[in-house]
Amino acid sequence: MSVLMNWLREELGKISENEIEVPNHELEDGDKAVGTLESVEARKIHELRNRVIRDMTRQLKDVSHKMIDAIEEEVSDDHNPATCERCTFRRQLELLKDKKDMLDKLFWSCVRHELSEEARIESDKMGSDGVGIRKDWQIVLTKRESTLGGILLGFGLPI
Ligand SMILES: [Zn+2]
Repeated sequence: MSVLMNWLREELGKISENEIEVPNHELEDGDKAVGTLESVEARKIHELRNRVIRDMTRQLKDVSHKMIDAIEEEVSDDHNPATCERCTFRRQLELLKDKKDMLDKLFWSCVRHELSEEARIESDKMGSDGVGIRKDWQIVLTKRESTLGGILLGFGLPI
């Protein structure tokens, strides 16, 4: 039993196929389409990641004013993390961010594991710097100009 794994199973179980938002990002220069992400489970992970990001964004907007109000409380002598709104919010957000990071990593790992051997060979041939997801779940091998971004992508960061 794990709180995080239970959460993941439950949330993925709640997502029905027709609720999954289909990516609409057009192909970019240097992208090479090598297939389609057919795995419904991987698509659900993508959807859950988007939901967690939306949740984080909404919470940040909702409470940013409260945070400012709470700064005074934070510096006072009787600051109590149990009742402090700011600390409570920060604790919530830490876990959300953790989930988002985990889902990001999990999603891109899923995509890489779906690649055929041919696609992986093609990736080597073209000197691809990563994988991406485009319109209608197309999987693309990416290749960017050698900028700082490209160098970072070379370390396996997804785009
Ligand atoms: Zn506090």
